[in-house]
Formats: sequence, structure tokens, C-alpha cells
Amino acid sequence: MSWDSILKRPEEIARANLRDYDREVTDFSWDQARSLLDGLPDGGLNITYEAVDRHVSHGRGDKIALRWISQENRIRALTYSDLQKLTNKFANVLRSLNFGKGDRVYCLLGRVPDLYIAALGSLKAGAAFCPLFSAFGPEPIKARMSIGEANLLITTERFYRRKLASWRNELGSLRHVVLVDGEDTLPDGTFGLAALMDGASETFNIERTAPEDIALLHFTSGTTGRPKGAVHVHAAVIAHHITGQFALDLHPDDIFWCTADPGWVTGTSYGIISPLTNGTTMIVDQAEFDAERWYRILQDHKVTVWYTAPTAIRMLMKVGSDIVRQFDLSHLRYMASVGEPLNPEAVVWSAKTFGKPFHDNWWQTETGGIMISNYQAMEVRPGSMGKPLPGVEAGIVERHDGQLREITAPSTVGELALRPGWPSMMRAYLHEEERYRKCFADGWYLSGDLAMRDADGYYWFVGRADDMIKSSGHLIGPFEVESALMEHPAVAEVAVIGIPDPVAGEIVKAFVALKAGIASSEELRMELLGHARKRLGPAVAPKEVVFRQNLPKTRSGKIMRRLLKARELGLPEGDISTLESEER
Ligand code: ATP
Ligand code: MG
Repeated sequence: MSWDSILKRPEEIARANLRDYDREVTDFSWDQARSLLDGLPDGGLNITYEAVDRHVSHGRGDKIALRWISQENRIRALTYSDLQKLTNKFANVLRSLNFGKGDRVYCLLGRVPDLYIAALGSLKAGAAFCPLFSAFGPEPIKARMSIGEANLLITTERFYRRKLASWRNELGSLRHVVLVDGEDTLPDGTFGLAALMDGASETFNIERTAPEDIALLHFTSGTTGRPKGAVHVHAAVIAHHITGQFALDLHPDDIFWCTADPGWVTGTSYGIISPLTNGTTMIVDQAEFDAERWYRILQDHKVTVWYTAPTAIRMLMKVGSDIVRQFDLSHLRYMASVGEPLNPEAVVWSAKTFGKPFHDNWWQTETGGIMISNYQAMEVRPGSMGKPLPGVEAGIVERHDGQLREITAPSTVGELALRPGWPSMMRAYLHEEERYRKCFADGWYLSGDLAMRDADGYYWFVGRADDMIKSSGHLIGPFEVESALMEHPAVAEVAVIGIPDPVAGEIVKAFVALKAGIASSEELRMELLGHARKRLGPAVAPKEVVFRQNLPKTRSGKIMRRLLKARELGLPEGDISTLESEER
């Protein structure tokens, strides 16, 4: 069965019952961005053609596209030509197994070159590609493969035996499993990739995909509940390409490192597609976070643009600034962050430590690409996510008499909304039409995040709508409270929730993880309460502070406030398939 029937144009849904949707962005058009790409030689648009083959046909084939660093520090470099040949081979393998347009190729691999070859090769063959985070256990894998009716899985023998073999036969849609390391004695019903690749031709006639053909399926992080499967089309490459220039300052001579795993949308949009369409050399590190290793990579590979996440930045802050001085980071020109609010403290720290600040930017799995950013040409405001990129129209909205209206008064909290129309917007939540339609009203796409816009047009994240706290008539965003506590030198990480209170409605409770070597004490607890009160005033400051060694986080590194709250209130924990690190 094909998914095509599920595709819904966001603009059309948003336009329904709308009065005021004729405002145009004047100085930039997506058509203009489209013209920066080539399109397939005989018509159509394909992400991989723009990311890989286009460079080869423009004489840039010898340039290094991907420099991979193995766990043990082995290096494998692939030029754009290598990548072209390998993805052609992979696409031929798919074709030889009878896979093509309309099929769903899933991948369960760590950050190894085969993952990148499989992703790009699948798109060439016209299949939809869905990367799964390799640390998922059997249940989250099964759930995501069932929802997406996976037809083919690329994985390793170990993952297959541990995470799939016991239930594989229950998934009727799954026709083949291909093992990247499978050699002599393969488990029953699997193929080895090497043998298939050996026999495959290096030339391939790319499937003529249209801009609206399905390309990628990405599941959301599951921070607020059950993950949603966001469907993206080939046209998304237009946004990946241009937003990489606007928000990450990507140029062809850059050495770019995006630390996100392709199991999450950042690791695909900006960990595969955008750096390649922009002709950079991208770094891929197989290993997990380690401060010293990261600084060594930045130094040894002369990284010029670095894209990472607040959770990693906070871990680097924990380790401190001294270690940074042992490395030569003089090539580093631009640093950006996404995934969670970036506390002002982190921006200030980075400016001091690296001589340049992290540029915060905001987007979602649903938006497919960066929407709001402290971009290159503008002054960074610590704590702000920046301004909408060209081509993106954002607004702060509220419901009034059943209809949405835009809040124009500066610094007033409302829901962050976007006018649909950019190419990387999702076209569906897979098999959840109702949930999808609910994201749109009166010409807007509703993000589910609350924010405000200051008089200069900068956007400030306040909290997810679900995480907001109502205390004595005040609407309190967790981010503000968390950022104030982060300023205290003892604090490494903090999450804030609202708990019911008979008088105030809710009161603010903070869960604090301390920096290494700092012991919790009643005295420190009082000090933090006092610090917060001084910074925020008694109405907003937490009434309770408790210490934890670790806060519960998703595998994409986001603090799961809803889980702290459910536990606090003795409620069911809900979907915790993406939970990585437990509360301790
Ligand atoms: P789910 O939708 O399943 O609950 P999720 O929203 O965490 O999970 P993602 O799409 O990975 O899944 O994350 C997008 C969300 O992350 C945004 O809606 C926002 O809440 C948060 N976010 C991302 N970047 C920023 C940022 N720069 N500042 C504040 N929040 C951010
Ligand atoms: Mg979300």
C-alpha cells in the first residue's frame, strides 16, 4: 500500500475558513530558493541529486563530502564522486530487490557511512526513508516500523538478533532485512549488504521524483507524549539548502559538524542534506559525547561551523572553560544550537569561552527545517531564539471568540504560529489525520510552543503549551525560571514543573542537578530559593527545590518535564519510548 493518499497540503488546510491570508513576503521567495538548485536533468526534483550528483556534474566530484571518524578514531573520507557511486550502487541494490517508489526503507544503524549511503541511496530509488535511533530497544522500533509499514530494514547483525529477530514475522509489510556487516553465516531471512553492493552497478538512473513525492518519515522526540510520524517530501530540499546558508552560514569551503544523530530530524536535515547541497565537507563522529573528544575533533578537523544542542552545551559548561584552552579552535567561525531553549547563561559562557556565541535557532520535526534563528547578520540576544528566516512568516497568536488572532503588542505571551507555505513543512502525521488537522487554524500552523516577540522582532521561547504553570493568576514559563537558576554557579541542569496547590492553583517546583563535585545541602537549597526569588520575584520563583543527580531526558537530549510531573502526581507515565536517561 502506498502512503500517497495521506498527503495533505498544509496551505490548503490552513486556508480553510480563513479571512486574512494574502500577505506576501516581499524580499524573498521560495521560487528564488528553488532556482539555486538544478532539478533532475529530465525534470523532477530529488534530494540526493541536489546533495550529491549535482556537485559531480559541476566538476566538484573530487571534493570530500563526508569525513567519518570511527569510535576508535579511524578516518574514512568519501568524496562527492565516491558518494555518487556508492548511492548509485545502493539504489541498484534496492531495485534488484524490487524496491522503488512508494516503498518504505527503514534504517537502524549507528552513525556509520552505510547509514548515509542508505539514506541518500533510498531517496535516489524513490523510496521513503525512515531513520531510527540506534539505541532504541525492540518496542520503540517495532512501534515505529508498524506505523510506517516498513518494507525493508537496513541494520547490523547484532541489532537484528537483539532487537528484531523475535518479532520480525509479526510485521507483514517487512519484505527484506539487509545487514551491513552480514558476511558468512547470516541469520535466516536476511541478506548481506556487501555482497549485494559488490554485484551492483555504479551508474543509476535516478527515479524521477516530483517535488511533492514522499521522501522522509521522521518521528518526533516524544517529549510531550506519543511520538508523531511527520511525513516530508522531496521539495524540502529547497528549505534545507537555503536555511543552511541563512541560519548556519554554510559555504562550500566549510568543514561542518552537526552533532545530532540522523535518528532525529536535525541529524538528517542538517546532518546529511543541507551540508551536502551546500557543498561542504561534513564531519560524522561515530562516538557518543565526550568533551575532550569533541574539542579534539573541532581542532584536528579544523571545523568551521558547528551545530549542536543545549544539552551538550550544558555538559561542556559542566566540564569548564580551562580544557578549551588546551585546543586550537581558531578555525571555528560559527556555532549554532537547537532542540531546547538555550539559556542566556550558555550563550554568555560560549562567547567568553570561544570568543563567539552560540546562535540559538528554533524549529521542529514538523517544520523540517530552521524557522527562527539568531542568524549570521544579526546581533545575538542571549535567551532569544532570534527572528524568522526570510520566507518564514511567524506570529504570536491567541484564541479570541473561537478564532485565532495575532498578538501585536510586544512581549506578550501567546502561541508561536507560522504561515504554512515553506517547502520543508510536513505533509501529514502518518495515519493520524485528525491530529494533523488540529495543528492548523485560521491560516496558521500552530506549533504548540508559547513564546513572545519583543519590540525589535526577536522571539523569546516561554515554554511548551503543555509545560506552562499557572500560579496565583500568573502564567509562568518554565524556561524563565530554569534560566534564572542556571545562573547560579552550582547548577548544572534544571527542570521546572507546576504542582497543584489549593491556594495558588499551582506552585513552581524545581528539580536541580548540581555541577560535579558540589554536594547538595539544606543550605544550598535555601540559597537557590533565595537566588530565584531575588531574580524572579516571589510570584514566579519556585516554592520548592529538590536535588537530583540526573534529570529524565529523551534520547534526543530534551528534558521530559511531563515525566517529572506524572511521577510527582502519581499519574501514569505515558509513552516513554524515547526516554534515555533516568531521573536519579
Ligand atoms: P513531541 O512533539 O513528540 O513532544 P518534541 O516536540 O520534543 O517531541 P522535536 O520536533 O524534536 O520533538 O522538537 C521540537 C520542539 O523542541 C519545539 O517545538 C520546541 O518545544 C523545542 N525546541 C527546539 N528548538 C528550540 C529552541 N531553540 N528554543 C526553545 N525550544 C526549542
Ligand atoms: Mg513537538
